[in-house]
Amino acid sequence: MQKRILKFLLPVVFLLTAVLAGCGKSVASQDILTNASQTNTIIWGVKADTNLFGLMNVKKNKIEGFDVDVAKALTKQILGPSGKAKFVQVTSDTRMPLLKAGNIDAIIATMTITPERKKQVDFSDIYFKAGGSLLVKKGSKIKSVKDLKKGTKVIVVQGSTYGDNIKKAAPDTQVLQLADYAQAFTALKSGQADALSTDNGILYGMSIQDKDYVVVGGTYTNEPYGIAINKGQKPFLHTVNSALAKIKENGTYDKIAQKWFGDVPGFDVKEVK
Ligand code: GLU
Repeated sequence: MQKRILKFLLPVVFLLTAVLAGCGKSVASQDILTNASQTNTIIWGVKADTNLFGLMNVKKNKIEGFDVDVAKALTKQILGPSGKAKFVQVTSDTRMPLLKAGNIDAIIATMTITPERKKQVDFSDIYFKAGGSLLVKKGSKIKSVKDLKKGTKVIVVQGSTYGDNIKKAAPDTQVLQLADYAQAFTALKSGQADALSTDNGILYGMSIQDKDYVVVGGTYTNEPYGIAINKGQKPFLHTVNSALAKIKENGTYDKIAQKWFGDVPGFDVKEVK
């Protein structure tokens, strides 16, 4: 009798052990590049709230923007013409945890390479050179970050570099932190603050949507964008860097940059590469 129970239980125990071992492996030690080749797919974390970089087109139910197009071009470069790019929505705040948990293979979402973030993840070579700026209502008395004195209020997005950037550049202003760029712009338009601070490209994307809002004061920080990849994924990181060099060399990158930023008034597309 006991033998029969054992005979039944042993395979179950084996199966459970195998499943549990598999679960652990999927996050910590799986090789992204091997996995991408096997599935013919790369899973990218992109913004869906950021005009020009990653914005949900509700009619088409597709996310569109510069980051999305670069991710598609890199995917084809890495996996070949049949390679698939899959997109998962991230915000400034959720992108790092989603990458660390293994939900996405890489982040391509207006993300600045900083020494602090480099402690947690690896970054590709720079793929877009942005700079910190301000968006204000036309005619506002705020002309640059120097005008953000005591009694003024500025909106920043959670998980972005601008909590710190503003603290350094305008320590006396009040800061309103919001969850994403859609909410941030809505709050500015409803008069909840005097300015919104983030990267110039993102702010130009907002000013195109509503001409009553303008980018002012030039840039007060450098924000070089990189593609974030988990540590311990050097083969994938190197492959992404080679693919990036290739699309910069063969004109694909220039075409994408021109498509999204060529017609943006006040933005020099030659300076981003
Ligand atoms: N580039 C800045 C950052 O990585 C701001 C843009 C964003 O929030 O994604 O934090």
